[in-house]
Amino acid sequence: MSKADFYEVLGVPKNASDEDIKKAYRKAAMKYHPDRNQDNPQAEVKFKEIKEAYEILSDSNKRAAYDQYGHAGVDPNMRGGAGADGFGGFADAFGDIFGDIFGQSRRGGGGRQVYAGADLNYGMEITLEEAAAGKNAEIRIPSWDECATCHGSGAKAGTSAKTCDTCHGQGVVQMRQGFFSVQQTCPHCRGTGKIIPDPCTDCRGQGKIKSHKTLEVKIPAGIDDGMRIRSTGNGEPSPNGGPPGDLYIEVRVKKHDIFERDGDDLHCEVPISFTAAALGGEIEVPTLGGKAVIDIPDGTQTGKQFRLRGKGIKGLRGSYPGDLYCHVAVETPVKLTEHQRKLLKELDESLKKGGGKHTPSGDTWRDKLKAFFGA
Ligand SMILES: [Zn+2]
Ligand SMILES: [Zn+2]
Repeated sequence: MSKADFYEVLGVPKNASDEDIKKAYRKAAMKYHPDRNQDNPQAEVKFKEIKEAYEILSDSNKRAAYDQYGHAGVDPNMRGGAGADGFGGFADAFGDIFGDIFGQSRRGGGGRQVYAGADLNYGMEITLEEAAAGKNAEIRIPSWDECATCHGSGAKAGTSAKTCDTCHGQGVVQMRQGFFSVQQTCPHCRGTGKIIPDPCTDCRGQGKIKSHKTLEVKIPAGIDDGMRIRSTGNGEPSPNGGPPGDLYIEVRVKKHDIFERDGDDLHCEVPISFTAAALGGEIEVPTLGGKAVIDIPDGTQTGKQFRLRGKGIKGLRGSYPGDLYCHVAVETPVKLTEHQRKLLKELDESLKKGGGKHTPSGDTWRDKLKAFFGA
């Protein structure tokens, strides 16, 4: 099979500049783009040819090789097969232009363009307990009722809407931009295809009146701060017969007095007395499910953490709940009586004499200081 000359494919002379090649390519690609030639299978073949020609001629090395050796100079096996990747490479090269044009006309589908209603966002604040357990909530959201005065037509009694002259009821207009035309929402009727010369005063021509409705929402157990729940179809109605938008409920979890969440795990700080820390024993800790008791060893230091397995939160997709980490904070006693001061001094003296370790990390600390001061 003899292959067409790449210059002929693009319709440019052999000495064409890079700019001319690019221009010719755009023009030809526009003409034969499969999206614009859905009933012409030959267009796709032609389009691939154009694409291949451009890939060679737009690359100075490949073009030089082609000029010198013809098709043999540009081994097709080295190019991964032109067109095999669909039209991705093409869109990459001219993503901005084609993204806009073909994106729009695709949606249009030749008929009247309809628009989905706008999405609504609703912020909901819940507690950590509610996030962990899930909840059913009732929320009040905006809704739109048909205007009782004009029965939704938007036109004053005795008058009626007329077809928009600008777009002839299509809701879209073609704007010429150089070689090709672009479809745009009709600026006159804003896509509705209709103009109301004498609008209903109750709804100001909207045909609908904003009110409210109560919606029951199920907040799933395990939801986390910042997650969104979509309620399909509960957004604003379409301006021109399209589907309604969606309602998004964004969940905010209030800061908890005790627990801090990290994924499925919970963390809490548990203050304990220094005697409890020194002597060890049972201490009470909070969990989302109620009180729990943990046994701490004697000599427990500040920052020591105790893990309570499964006392965290079961995430939305998790099969097991996370853990609860209790971080111990040893507190220094304050407002001592004379007697208590005396007891502590005695304790201090006793510890200094030995038979107990007064400052467990003291030795290490002193070594560090020595090294630091070079003494
Ligand atoms: Zn009305
Ligand atoms: Zn219009």
